[in-house]
This record gives sequence, structure tokens and C-alpha cells, in this order.
Amino acid sequence: MSLALGQRLVNRGRTKDQGQTKDQGRTKDQGRTKDQGRTKDQVRTKDQGRTKDQDRRTKDDVKTPTETRHLLDKLEAQHPGADTELHHRNAFELLVATILSAQSTDRRVNMVTPALFDRYPDARALSAATIAELEPQIHSTGFFRAKSKSLVGMARALMEHHGGRVPADMDALTALPGVGRKTANVVLGHALGVPGLPVDRHVLRVSNRIGIADSDDPVVVERQLCAAMPGKRWTRTSDTLILHGRRICRPTPLCDECAVQEACDYFQSLVRASKRRRTRPARATKTKAPRRP
Ligand code: SF4
Repeated sequence: MSLALGQRLVNRGRTKDQGQTKDQGRTKDQGRTKDQGRTKDQVRTKDQGRTKDQDRRTKDDVKTPTETRHLLDKLEAQHPGADTELHHRNAFELLVATILSAQSTDRRVNMVTPALFDRYPDARALSAATIAELEPQIHSTGFFRAKSKSLVGMARALMEHHGGRVPADMDALTALPGVGRKTANVVLGHALGVPGLPVDRHVLRVSNRIGIADSDDPVVVERQLCAAMPGKRWTRTSDTLILHGRRICRPTPLCDECAVQEACDYFQSLVRASKRRRTRPARATKTKAPRRP
């Protein structure tokens, strides 16, 4: 089932205002939680230093940071050791592999990169290649013309502006040809020791279904997840959601095998819809009056 359909299911039956808060129908005071009556400082959580207000659901109705962290704990337990599946030995190789992975599979990229890394071990070697010479070597990953252009352009920019090294900085990385925010976050988080939370289609689908994010814009989802998770967990969060999206929460999800089924907005909306169908009284069948002769 598509993400759009999932969102429609989640939002079905809510008005615009009702859809924004769990406290719908309550007055402001009725909607207060058990922390009611405490001062702002008293409700700071132990580890995060967050206030209760910061820990509340946002107006977009995503789960609270505490709920999100708890759900990620469960998903990490279901997918222990989640990591990028792109083979690499350094930041340069991971940057090349990630550019090649667009519209391709990690498995396919891993078949192409060993020979590529032997021939072009660093930015200097790749910057001296021609686009035409590179194309047949990466042909099987798809979009080989655009990718060849990006790879050579990226290597030349590294030589020109960064002494051949991959910069550990989001702005510098996204200024390189063929490098978007997702690719930059992959390299920062996995090869440069800088927290990064790449949002690909799996992260987008899974996080929206569960209700730990609420947007079809990857930048907004990245912001929502980063706000909920501590920086040291950003990269693992992305890897875990990607693995969950590949193995369990596929476009047609395997909800019976999912560790977070009980808290998943998408699953719960399906359960509610199914209950409504079961309890709805059967309509009386209209019978036509027999025609008079
Ligand atoms: S219950 Fe799990 S598999 Fe099913 S939609 Fe939710 S996150 Fe995906």
C-alpha cells in the first residue's frame, strides 16, 4: 500500500483541526498530562534536559521524542547492527559508491566498485578520467551518463577546493557535483564521524507510517527525526529504518513480523478500519416491487 494511501488512512475521518492533536475535543486544561501542576523545570526529563512542552507531540501530531526513542530501541533490537551495505574503505570510496547507488541497488553497486576503486583509488586518479571512459565501467548501475559526469566533476572539485580530501562538512559536500543532502549525510555519518541522518524512500515511508515523522519532504523528516533522537544515534536510526523498510515495512508491509506494530499509526488505523467494517450493520437490501401486468 502506498505512502499516500497510508497517510489518507491515518488521517481519514479527521477534520483539519482534529487531525492536529490527540487532545481533540478537550479543553486546554483537560488536555494536560500527568505532569500538570509542575513547574517547567520540574518536568525536565533526566537525560535530555527537555521540558515537558518540548517533549509534547508537535502540531503535526508526530510521536513525542520519548516515544520515538523507545520505538527506535525496539527496531534496533529487531535489526541489530544495521549499517550501510555499500562496501567502502574510506570516505572517498563511500562518496563514489553512494553517488552510484542512486536509482540502483547496493548489491549492484558493490559488484561495480571493486574494479573502479582499483583503477581510481582517490580523487586525483578519478579527476584525470574522462566521462566517456567512465561510462562503460558503471553502465550497469543505470543513469551512467549523469553519474559519470557527477563522479568526474566531484573528483575535480575535491582536487580544486579540498586538496583531494572529502570535507567533513554538509555545505562543502553538497556543493560538490552530484552530491545531495542524503549522500552527504551517508558519508558524514558512516565515514567521517559527523552525525548525519540520511532520509531515503525507506526512511520516509517507515517513519510516516509509524508516526515518528509527518511529511513527504525528506528535509522535514530529517529535521523531525534529528529533533527526537540524540546526535550519536542519527546514523544508526537511518540505517535501522532503511533495513526495516527493506525487510518488513515494505510497500506492502509484513505487519505481523513487526516489532512496533502496537504503536504504529498505520497499523492501528487499519485495525480501526477493520473493526468499523465488522460492526457496521448490514444494509437492508432494496427489493423492487414486482411489475404489474
Ligand atoms: S506495523 Fe510495522 S510493518 Fe506494519 S506498517 Fe507499521 S511499521 Fe510498517
